Amino acid sequence: MPRAPLPAPAEGEPYLLTPGPLSTSAGVKRAMLRDWGSWDADFRAITAEVRARLLSIAGAARPEWDCVPLQGSGSYCVEAMLGSLLPRNGKMLVLANGAYGQRAAQTLACMGRAHLVIDKGDYLPPRGPEVADALAADPAITHVLAIHCETSSGILNPLPEIAAAVAAAGRKLLIDSMSAFGAVPLDVRDLPCAGFVSSANKCIEGVPGFGFVIARTAELAAARGNSQSLSLDVHAQWAYMEKTGQWRFTPPTHAVAAFLQALKDHQAEGGVVARGERYTENRDVLVAGMRGLGFETLLADAWLSPIITTFFSPADPAFDFAGFYAAMKARDFIIYPGKLTVAESFRIGHIGQIDAHVMRRVVAAAGAALAGMGVASAAPPPEALGQRARLAT
Ligand SMILES: *Cc1c(COP(=O)(O)O)cnc(C)c1O
Repeated sequence: MPRAPLPAPAEGEPYLLTPGPLSTSAGVKRAMLRDWGSWDADFRAITAEVRARLLSIAGAARPEWDCVPLQGSGSYCVEAMLGSLLPRNGKMLVLANGAYGQRAAQTLACMGRAHLVIDKGDYLPPRGPEVADALAADPAITHVLAIHCETSSGILNPLPEIAAAVAAAGRKLLIDSMSAFGAVPLDVRDLPCAGFVSSANKCIEGVPGFGFVIARTAELAAARGNSQSLSLDVHAQWAYMEKTGQWRFTPPTHAVAAFLQALKDHQAEGGVVARGERYTENRDVLVAGMRGLGFETLLADAWLSPIITTFFSPADPAFDFAGFYAAMKARDFIIYPGKLTVAESFRIGHIGQIDAHVMRRVVAAAGAALAGMGVASAAPPPEALGQRARLAT
């Protein structure tokens, strides 16, 4: 059944085709028009409901699992999860294929924690067998970090085969599901892991300000004293929240209230399945339309995520990203620069309060932008496509 179009943003407000911050609903924005006392029972009830709803989306039941919200952007919460759930004498295998895997490795380096990186470059997925080999070769590795959707390329990494390899080797899996949770299934009943992290301003469609770690309660309890940071200590935040119902330090009250509204909207839309379907349709309309204009995606279809898609920049010398960006912005669409080291590219996100109707207008805007720049062909340089051919499924 075709969906009714989503309401447009307020007059003069562009669509954010970026993977967080993203376009949010009027209801989410309205939820921020009230001040809350952080210690007051009304706000404590909001926090409790947010935690319970997040656990339910993950298929995670108390008392085996718990949810710990934490102030800061996603990277703060990744840092908190790594520093808290990896024991000081543990060793982490980081599965990197883009900027966020690299950032996690850098975070571990800053904390002085033992780690090893499998670096697959910009666009190749880490596969189960190579994870199994790495774990067999290094018995000191206690934990593995996987990136669910690597937002820098948009690749959806093969989490089930990675989780199976980690479990078979008797090690613990942590997941950065920042840009996937809420739209790509992550159910802890199907996926063996110790915990994962995500944030308010991605697929749940809240505003920036905090993230959350969902982890086994036994891992949270055992994390006492692991963190070298006072404020990014997941155990301490959890213990305080369990005791008082409050956040340990000043919470982003308005962002939390907005997030509760976003969680209610998520459920009303039909949860992870419906949100994933809307985002997938957004992607399919975008990719088909852009290919119709002559653009090529970095990734073969099997690896495209419903979150964000990377397109090669056209080889035509009349194309430049700054001009294209400005032409898209003039049509009320904010796009995203590329983050690849191998080829010129740009990204278009398909998450947030956008639907297929909007994506068709995005494609029309891209066509008009090309025409305005005098770009005759959107085809990428041939070398760029040669790279993609190496990506076997
Ligand atoms: C967004 C994101 C993060 C966190 O980035 P922040 O800018 O700190 O919010 C981490 N990992 C992934 C995969 C992401 O998409």
